[in-house]
Amino acid sequence: MRFKDVIGQDEIKSRLVQAYKDNRVSHSYLFYGAPGVGKMALAIAFAQYLSCENKEDGDSCGHCPSCLKYEKLVHPDLHFVFPYITSSNSQNKAVSDTYIDLWRPMVNNSPYFSYRDWTNNLQSENKQCQIYAAESAEIIKKVSLKTYESDYKVMIIWLPEKMNTECANKILKVLEEPPHNTVFLLVSNNREDILPTIQSRTQPVKVLGIADEPLKQALVEKFGISESEAADVVKISNGSFLEARQQIEQDEENAFNFDNFKSLMRICYKYDVVSTFDFAKSISKLSRERQKSFINYCLIMVRENFVRNVNSDVAYLTKEEEEFSVNFSRCINERNIDSYITILNDTYYQIERNGNSEIIFTDTAFNIMKIIRK
Ligand SMILES: [Zn+2]
Repeated sequence: MRFKDVIGQDEIKSRLVQAYKDNRVSHSYLFYGAPGVGKMALAIAFAQYLSCENKEDGDSCGHCPSCLKYEKLVHPDLHFVFPYITSSNSQNKAVSDTYIDLWRPMVNNSPYFSYRDWTNNLQSENKQCQIYAAESAEIIKKVSLKTYESDYKVMIIWLPEKMNTECANKILKVLEEPPHNTVFLLVSNNREDILPTIQSRTQPVKVLGIADEPLKQALVEKFGISESEAADVVKISNGSFLEARQQIEQDEENAFNFDNFKSLMRICYKYDVVSTFDFAKSISKLSRERQKSFINYCLIMVRENFVRNVNSDVAYLTKEEEEFSVNFSRCINERNIDSYITILNDTYYQIERNGNSEIIFTDTAFNIMKIIRK
C-alpha cells in the first residue's frame, strides 16, 4: 500500500513523510479517529514508506524488493497485533499470529475494513475479541529480534483499546523505549478507551474524515457508480469509506429488491402461473437473509403504495419506485391492504422457520393473485 493508494488525508501523509526527511520519526504513533477514515491504510503506507529502498516524491516506490513484500503484507519486519477470540482451554496459547491467515487476506483485500468484517471472518459470533496477555511475550520477542531485511521494524497494533490490562502493562517498557529503528503504529477507533499509560507513550495522530472530493473519486473508481451517485453517497458518509460502502451496498440491495418486487407484482397481476414457478425458484436461490430482506422490502412497498393511493404527497419512494407506483398503487387499497400484510408476514415467518422457500414463495404469489385485483 503506497500513500497514493490511501484515500485523501494528504495533510497527514506529508506530515509523516516530513518526519522521516527530518530524521525525527517517533518510536510510536497512535492513529485515532472514526472507523473508515483510513487509519490502517495510513499506517501500512507509512510502514511501507519507511522500509522502501527507493523512496520517491514523498512515497514508496512500489517495486523494490521491500515494497513487493509489503504489497502482500509478508515483509518479515512487519508485524501485526489485533484482537481475537480464544476458547478457555487455549487462552494461554493463542496469539494474533494464530489467526494471521484470516487477517492477511482481509487486509490485503482492503485496508478499509470494519470490526464487524473482522469478527465475521473469525466467526466469533457474539464473543468479545481481545488482545490477550499471551500477546505481550510475543510483542517483546518480536521487537527484540534483529531486523531481517529492512532498516525499520514496524509493529502495527490494531485496536489497542481491546488490549487487556495485563498485556498492556507488560509492553509499557518496550513501547516507551523500543530497540533502535522499531516503530509502533497503533490504530484505534476509540482513543478514550485506551489505557492512559499506553496513550502517554505514543504520539497522537488524529485522523479526521476523508475530504469530499477524494472520497467521491474513490467511490467512482471502486464501485463503478456515476459521479453524481457518488456525490450523493458522500453527503451522508461523514468522511468514512466504510459508511459510504455500506450505503452503496444498501442501495444495490434496494435496487435488486425493487426489480424482484416489480416482477412478483406483474406476475400476480397477469395471473402468470408459469412465471410464478420461475420466480419462486430464483428467489429461493438467495440466502435466507436476502429472502427476508426482500420480504421486508415488499412490506415497505405495500405500505408506501397504500399511503400513496390515499394521499399521493406523503409516500417515501425513490424516483424509480415512484414511476412504478403511478399505476401500481391502485392495486393496494383499504379492501386488500390487510391481506397483503398478512400474506407477507406469513411468508417471513415461514422463511425464518427454514421452510422450503420455493414452495413458500409460490404460495405467496398465488395468495397475492387472489387479492391484487380486489
Ligand atoms: Zn520501494
